Amino acid sequence: MTKDNSNWKSRTKAVHSGTRRSQYGEVSEAIFMTQGFVYETAEAAEARFVQLGEDEFIYARYGNPTVAMFEDRIAAIEGTEDAFACASGMAAVNGALVSMLRAGDHVVSAKALFGSCLYILEEILGRYGVDVTFVDGTDLDQWKAAIRPDTKAVFFESVSNPALEVIDMKSVSDLAHAVGALVVVDNVFSTPVFSRATELGADVIVYSTTKHIDGQGRALGGVVLGSKEFIRGTLEPYMKHTGAAMSPFTAWIMLKGLETLDLRVRAQAATAAAIAKALEGHPKLERVVYPGSPSHPQYDLCQAQMGSGGTMVAYEIKGGRDAAFRFMNALEICTISNNLGDAKTIVTHPATTTHQRLPQEQKDHLGITYGLIRMSAGLEDAQDLIDDVLRGLDAV
Ligand SMILES: *Cc1c(COP(=O)(O)O)cnc(C)c1O
Repeated sequence: MTKDNSNWKSRTKAVHSGTRRSQYGEVSEAIFMTQGFVYETAEAAEARFVQLGEDEFIYARYGNPTVAMFEDRIAAIEGTEDAFACASGMAAVNGALVSMLRAGDHVVSAKALFGSCLYILEEILGRYGVDVTFVDGTDLDQWKAAIRPDTKAVFFESVSNPALEVIDMKSVSDLAHAVGALVVVDNVFSTPVFSRATELGADVIVYSTTKHIDGQGRALGGVVLGSKEFIRGTLEPYMKHTGAAMSPFTAWIMLKGLETLDLRVRAQAATAAAIAKALEGHPKLERVVYPGSPSHPQYDLCQAQMGSGGTMVAYEIKGGRDAAFRFMNALEICTISNNLGDAKTIVTHPATTTHQRLPQEQKDHLGITYGLIRMSAGLEDAQDLIDDVLRGLDAV
């Protein structure tokens, strides 16, 4: 029924995998904007509730043909057996963790996390009796010391936000697997294009599809990828009964986003690299952080793990908050916002926005200074962007 060939390369999968054509033979994937499905007879309804057949649907909170096309396509690209799409990246992170954990379980997590991820690990899991140990994700000795024989899961972002630290996925996975713990990776900054997560040992991979997969700032979405056993046995019962389903319309946006993902992300990464190179050594900057620059402390790890520095650059402007704000306000092309992975280049001031609520001590620890700018490279002309950033720095 669905179109797939495991020998296809990633870009072919991104265009064709998971396609389900209706009787009309449409070229572009159909949006099945329906919450429910009709049964020919009462017996057929009963049978479907007893045992859901291949490519059968009951209710859109459980599954929908457009959503299934997206799930099958991204699973094919990522190289996992299955995927479950949901309403947002946070629904995906919450579902992946809460569906597998019980009171009394132990989790080890990197501490450099997206704010809402930190809330789930610090607040929510603790409230339900899960014990979480936080470590500096780049320090393997801390992972080694924190992982216990009874550890159920480890959690980290493959590249941290906004400091752009790279976590050694293979080494952390080996430590976790030695005690039978599941490796759960929030892989947003790697993107499916540069991800080798399954190969490096991740068991459960999470994306906020709001970022690069949509890539045009239109819709919230999330997806959890993993083995059939995890996705259908552990995650699906939790997700389908708690309601964070992806809308069919959103699934269609994400499905079409996958078709151009590789082209967009590679172009954005090339632009990020060009911006980092143009800014390196600029007299008004304290430092430039780009995992694809040889000056990055984890350059070798990043090359081995992603083969690219990704689409994000960070830089610290001398002069703190005032200088950073003057810089941002002088930009003519770059947009001030807090999304990332978008076609539009976006600058963010983490210390006063996305990471505002972190205590000062934690900001210091994560390198979130008041001069720090996080930049998501878009699809504009790279030289125009470099000129814009240099114009901004002139205003400082
Ligand atoms: C944006 C983001 C999320 C949350 O995704 P939403 O779609 O906004 O819910 C989680 N983790 C990382 C690393 C992110 O960048």
